Amino acid sequence: MTELRWNPEICAACETVDCLEKCQYVRYSPEQARGERDRLIRGEETAILTDCVTCYACEEYCPHHNHPFYLIVERQEELGIHPVPKPIEKSQVLMMGPKGRIVPEAVRAPVINLCYFPMMKGAIRGRLLGDASVIVGSDIFCNLMFLHFARNSTIRERLPLMMRNIMTHYLTPGGVDELVCYHDECYGTYTSWAPAFGIDVPFRPVHLFDFLNRRLEAHAGEIKPLGLKAAYQRPCSNRLCPETDAWVDAIFEKIGVERTEREFDHGNALCCGGVMEAQQRFDLAESNRERNIADMKASGATVAAFNCPFCFFTLAEKAAQAGLMPVMMSDLCHMALGD
Ligand code: SF4
Ligand code: SF4
Repeated sequence: MTELRWNPEICAACETVDCLEKCQYVRYSPEQARGERDRLIRGEETAILTDCVTCYACEEYCPHHNHPFYLIVERQEELGIHPVPKPIEKSQVLMMGPKGRIVPEAVRAPVINLCYFPMMKGAIRGRLLGDASVIVGSDIFCNLMFLHFARNSTIRERLPLMMRNIMTHYLTPGGVDELVCYHDECYGTYTSWAPAFGIDVPFRPVHLFDFLNRRLEAHAGEIKPLGLKAAYQRPCSNRLCPETDAWVDAIFEKIGVERTEREFDHGNALCCGGVMEAQQRFDLAESNRERNIADMKASGATVAAFNCPFCFFTLAEKAAQAGLMPVMMSDLCHMALGD
């Protein structure tokens, strides 16, 4: 069984408890935060295990990279705390499980992993992405979404099989050693969650932003700057790879888009609210959405830019109703090339 690489001594010596002090969804005094931290260390039931909305942000807030959110998920699971009602959890575990219906397919580099979003296949097109091989589906799905369901165990159980499938059916026969992750969730799985649990990744994960940047550079002469102002919706899983956030700026600069300054961006990004709905926190989900869209509008943006398909599905309609054009990052890049 793989164990979370978490050091209780680092937490015990931590004065600032940034993981909980910076959390946007709880308001603990410094003394309360230290008490929560101490009970987490001892493995006791404590408020944060039910207060947490599973936004992933404390993984970024901890200055010691000591995996506070993964620990919360471990403790929730150990203590039988279910952030999402059990019938929904059960159905998601069944629905999203591997189907064993993988069809081997010849691939060649670059290979883009669309995770479990087959509806996004249309995004892989044009001069930027059209030459890529695409893999997608239940049998290569990272399963990281089960962090929202207090189920590290499901990820532990399924991820090795998923990586074997990726290698056996695609990358090894194709002679490919790197995998472009369309979704931050997959990239976060391979660069944060798997190392945190001591699981080796047999390929080099590449973030979509890194790939888009390189491709845009190669087509620099063909870009027509868009001249748009975009509010960026930073997804929860980007908290697992914060070093990639700066690539949004690099992409925008190349395609003539301004990333508007807003309250809820970068370290202060707001959850799209989709997971809160699954948790039946409907009022919180709605107020989050309203604050988020109002903040996008107030920033002077005319575009709401997304990288996570789930954030897009959750917020696009509200953004459009507010007069913002919802666009995926990859589509913004295609637009700049006229593809
Ligand atoms: S997880 Fe990080 S921020 Fe939180 S108490 Fe431990 S060391 Fe401090
Ligand atoms: S995952 Fe989000 S809501 Fe939960 S404790 Fe961490 S920062 Fe707070």
